[in-house]
Amino acid sequence: MDTLVEISVYSADRPKALEAVKQAFLEIERIEKIFSRFDKDSEISRVNTLAGIKETKLSSELFGLIKDSLYYSQISEGAFDITAAPLVDVWAIARRDGVVPDSKTIESTLEYVGYKNIKLDGERSSVHFLDKRTRLDFGGIAKGYAVDRTKETLLSHGIKNALINIGGNIFALGSPPGRKAWRIGIQHPRYKNKIIFKLNLKNRAAATSGDYERFFTLDKKRFSHIINPLDGWPVQDVMSVTVVAATAEAADALSTAFFVTGAENSQTLIRSFDDIEVFMFDKESRFIKYP
Ligand code: ADP
Ligand code: MG
Repeated sequence: MDTLVEISVYSADRPKALEAVKQAFLEIERIEKIFSRFDKDSEISRVNTLAGIKETKLSSELFGLIKDSLYYSQISEGAFDITAAPLVDVWAIARRDGVVPDSKTIESTLEYVGYKNIKLDGERSSVHFLDKRTRLDFGGIAKGYAVDRTKETLLSHGIKNALINIGGNIFALGSPPGRKAWRIGIQHPRYKNKIIFKLNLKNRAAATSGDYERFFTLDKKRFSHIINPLDGWPVQDVMSVTVVAATAEAADALSTAFFVTGAENSQTLIRSFDDIEVFMFDKESRFIKYP
């Protein structure tokens, strides 16, 4: 997953805990083999090659994650969008070459970006892209999904207290011995050692999207790795967003979505959920907390 994975487990039975962690890592590898678009043999690579040409059958797992992704696209009015892949690639080239893409390239790429190009058929468990150039990228949701699956693996091996962290996508299962919850610090996006807020999490997930770990500078401007699929440009208005939610998948997708919509425009969507918490740093380093 191109990031750090940490699994901490408390158990009175050490062999059982070690076996559970081993199985958890195998589960993450299994998921990566489905969702990595950089692995030529992954299911998503096959779909990206075929679904623009013809209706393509999906495993129930890939079908499920596309369906969930479309839900997050709909509620965020396109801020979260798994079809942003071609834009991600345009900006990866820009980063490599050190040149901002010209507006023509961005405009022409935007023609085939958009979740409405994805046609899912539930009965046939298949997908078809309305534009043959459309491609899917699960970078904004797959780590959260993998965290949830990992949690299930640990549970099925009898583990009740654990902390899973895949690149800042966290699930806090139970709590450490003698404590009520796992304590997770939210760091300042510009001062790594400055902890701004401490979360107490028990059977809850958290995810952070930030501009301070994966970013690049062009023309002295800082660009994040998250693209606004509506205008084709990397987001520049937010430094970080942390979302606490019931599942790591929701926390992952929503943190990416709010990162794109920004502090002010996220408010309506944020308020439509009664079971999430949001911690945001806008570009002026203002800390905004919900509720
Ligand atoms: P991270 O990968 O650092 O955990 P995110 O969860 O916010 O961060 O996801 C960012 C990744 O998602 C990008 O690297 C890219 O692959 C993909 N992506 C970029 N922009 C969007 C977007 N608007 N909607 C969905 N996915 C996106
Ligand atoms: Mg995300």
